[in-house]
Amino acid sequence: MDAYYASPSSSFYDNAISRRFYEQKLRYLRFEPYPNDGLVTFGASGTAMCDRQLVLKNAQGVKPEKSDDLPFRGRQRRQGTAIVDYVQLDLVHMRKRLGADAKFTMAVRDNSEWDFEDAAQQRVIFEYPNPETGEFVSFAITAKPDGKFHYAPDGSRVIFEYKTKASGLRAMNGKIDFKGAQDDHIRQVTAEALVFGIDEALIVYESTQKPAWFDDAQSTSVTKGQKTWEDGQPRPDLRACYVKITDEMKAALLSDLARQAALVYEQRAGGDLPEVTAESTGKCGFCAFTDHCRKTLTADNLAKLQRIDSAMATSQMAGKAEHRNVIKYLAEVTASATE
Ligand code: SF4
Repeated sequence: MDAYYASPSSSFYDNAISRRFYEQKLRYLRFEPYPNDGLVTFGASGTAMCDRQLVLKNAQGVKPEKSDDLPFRGRQRRQGTAIVDYVQLDLVHMRKRLGADAKFTMAVRDNSEWDFEDAAQQRVIFEYPNPETGEFVSFAITAKPDGKFHYAPDGSRVIFEYKTKASGLRAMNGKIDFKGAQDDHIRQVTAEALVFGIDEALIVYESTQKPAWFDDAQSTSVTKGQKTWEDGQPRPDLRACYVKITDEMKAALLSDLARQAALVYEQRAGGDLPEVTAESTGKCGFCAFTDHCRKTLTADNLAKLQRIDSAMATSQMAGKAEHRNVIKYLAEVTASATE
């Protein structure tokens, strides 16, 4: 990708390739619901939900909450979508621009469509034992990858996911250096591996903050922590994380999804909502059921969370992210009770 973007030709699109790309996108501008087979369907990118959120999502009569958000977040979401769109257009130009140097190119399906997004979408049904009861549970996973690559040296396929990061160059690089790809993104490509039978993935991160156009290392108007160049080089704004998806990773995911699917079927049969746990409060930031979750919290569950909060406050966890999440959730429960 660096070779492509460094080339002056990357500023121009080939008309025939672009037309084919947009015509493919147009063909899929339509709504296609999942088959109505009653099974819980996990989207590959939605396999890291808290138990309660998943059950609410699949519960009868509970609608996702739609409320106004901070405006910049709307712009940030659009920016992320737009970037993936043009990266895909760039990727289908790689072979033309780079020739044999293009080791990874967008795979082409038997019907001559590029193997990404809706054209690649697949829903597969699994049956796997619930680790808590041993009983087999049926559920489906659906996946719509940013792409499947054809790897030229051996002709193999590689799953491709593209993630934009608005946290800044230093934060993005620091996190990847420390831990590699994000856990929920690894879960996503594991789900995709199960659907497509492809056991290798590239999760590529792009920072929406770019280095200064020229070396800012000596610039006195840029503070040390804000410098975007180091040792005469711009800090990377693009990082690729390779993931080899093992049988153990797949089994762990299937086992967890079977457990979660069983929770949905139990609730549909009249069971209770799963409890809010300290761990689940770490997932509230992107949850569309926060109001419903707080308003249906039982007194027992509230007391349990308050005890967890007190125990954390006097332990090494005090003030850490996990503790802050519990505090925030409890504060919101109190606020919604007084509304
Ligand atoms: S608000 Fe948080 S705890 Fe409640 S369902 Fe959503 S993610 Fe789970």
